[in-house]
Amino acid sequence: MKLLMVGAGLSGAVIGRKLAEAGHDITIVDARPHVAGNCHTTRDAETGVMVHVYGPHIFHTDDAEVWDYVNAFETFQPYKNRVKTTSKGQVFSLPINLHTINQFYGKTLRPDEARDFIAEVADTSIEDPQSFEEQALRFVGPDLYEAFFKGYTIKQWGVQPSDLPAAILKRLPVRFNYDDNYFFHAFQGMPENGYTAMVERILDHPKITVHLETSFERAQKDQWDHVFYSGPLDGWFDYDLGRLGYRTLDFERFSYDGDYQGCAVMNYGEEDVPYTRITEHKHFSPWESHEGSVLYREFSRACEPQDIPYYPIRQVKEKALLADYVALAEQEEGVTFVGRLGTYRYLDMDVTIREALDTAAAFLAQGQATPAF
Ligand code: FAD
Ligand code: UDP
Repeated sequence: MKLLMVGAGLSGAVIGRKLAEAGHDITIVDARPHVAGNCHTTRDAETGVMVHVYGPHIFHTDDAEVWDYVNAFETFQPYKNRVKTTSKGQVFSLPINLHTINQFYGKTLRPDEARDFIAEVADTSIEDPQSFEEQALRFVGPDLYEAFFKGYTIKQWGVQPSDLPAAILKRLPVRFNYDDNYFFHAFQGMPENGYTAMVERILDHPKITVHLETSFERAQKDQWDHVFYSGPLDGWFDYDLGRLGYRTLDFERFSYDGDYQGCAVMNYGEEDVPYTRITEHKHFSPWESHEGSVLYREFSRACEPQDIPYYPIRQVKEKALLADYVALAEQEEGVTFVGRLGTYRYLDMDVTIREALDTAAAFLAQGQATPAF
C-alpha cells in the first residue's frame, strides 16, 4: 500500500518505520525543515552544546518494550532529572522531598516526623480535591503551595489554579526521603547524539521517503491508500468549528561563559518573575565538556493561530469543542489521527511511541486503528 505520514515527529516516524518493515511504501511529509517534531535537538552554533529546541525533553518510561525500541536506534546515557526551583529568595529541590520540607521550614525532621508534620499543615477538610488548588492544599498545605505551585501554575496556564483540574498536579509526587529524581520510572536517559539523530535512524529505511518543508493539505488525501495524521486535529477540518485552545512557549536564548546555574532546569515559583523556568542545555549532556553555555528562558502564553501549539488546555470549553471534532473525525475515512496534536492530548515521548507501535500493529492486523482522543 501507498501510505502517507503527516509529521516526522515520533508518531509519524515510529508508525512509518513499522509499516515500512511490513513492506508498505511510506512517504512522510513535515512542514518543518527538520525531523523529530517537538523533540528536535541540534548543536548550538555559538557553543556547540546540544540544545532541545522546543523545550527540555527527558526520556523516562516503565515500558520495557519502548525502552528497548529507542535503545535499538540510539545509545542512551544514564540521566536523572533533578529539578531545582527558586522561591522566596532561596533555591529548593523538586519534587517536594524531605530536603525541601526541612529547608523550607528550617527543621531536621525524619521521614515519619515529616509525614506527620505535612499532615498537620495540609488541609484535610478537603476530602475529594477537584481543582489543582484543592489538590495542592490537601497534600502539602498553603505554605508550600504558594511557594512552589501557585505562581508557577498561573504563569504556565494563564488561569487561577482553582480553575484547573487536580490531575495536572497529580503527576508530581511528594517524597518523605531525599530522593530528588523528578521521575519515578524504571528507565530514564538521554540520547547520546540527541533525539533528532535517533529519529533520523528510525527513518533510515529503503521504503521510507521523507519530504521536509512540505505542508500537507487535506485535498491531497485521495492520492494515498491511507493517511496517518499527526498534525492538529482542528487543522484537518480547517478550524471550521473554531480552534482548540493551546498554550504556546517563547524561548529567549542567552549564552554565558562558564556554568550559569549549575543544573539543567531551574524553575521560578514566583509570579512576578515573568518566565517559568531556565534551561541550561549543557547539563543534559554531562558526558560532554563545554566551556561556554547556552540557556533558554521559557515564557508561556495563549497560543495564537501563527504560534506553535504546545500544551493542550483541555478544560470544559475545549473538551466540548473536542467532542465536536471527534464526531467529525469518526466520519472520516482513510485517515488515522495520531500523536499529541492529532488527538489533542499531552503525551510523553514514551506514551507517544507506545501508541505509535500499537497503531501500526492494529493497522497491519485489521487495516485500521482506532485513535485515542
Ligand atoms: P510532534 O513532535 O509535535 O510532531 C508533529 C509533527 O507534525 C511536527 O513536526 C509538525 O511540524 C508536523 N505537522 C503538523 N501538521 C502538519 C502538516 N499539515 N503538514 C506537514 N507537517 C505537519 N515528553 C517526554 O517524554 N519527556 C519530556 O521531558 C517532555 N518534555 C516536553 C516539554 C515540552 C515543552 C512539551 C510541549 C512536550 C514535552 N514532551 C516530553 C512531550 C513530547 O514533545 C511529545 O511526546 C512528542 O513530541 C510527540 O510527538 P508527535 O510526533 O506526536 O508530535
Ligand atoms: N508545577 C508547578 N511548579 C513547578 C513545577 C510544576 O506549579 O515548579 C505545576 C505546573 O502547573 C505544571 C504541573 O505542575 O503544569 C506539572 O508539572 P510538570 O513538571 O509535569 O510540567 P510539564 O512537564 O507539563 O511542563
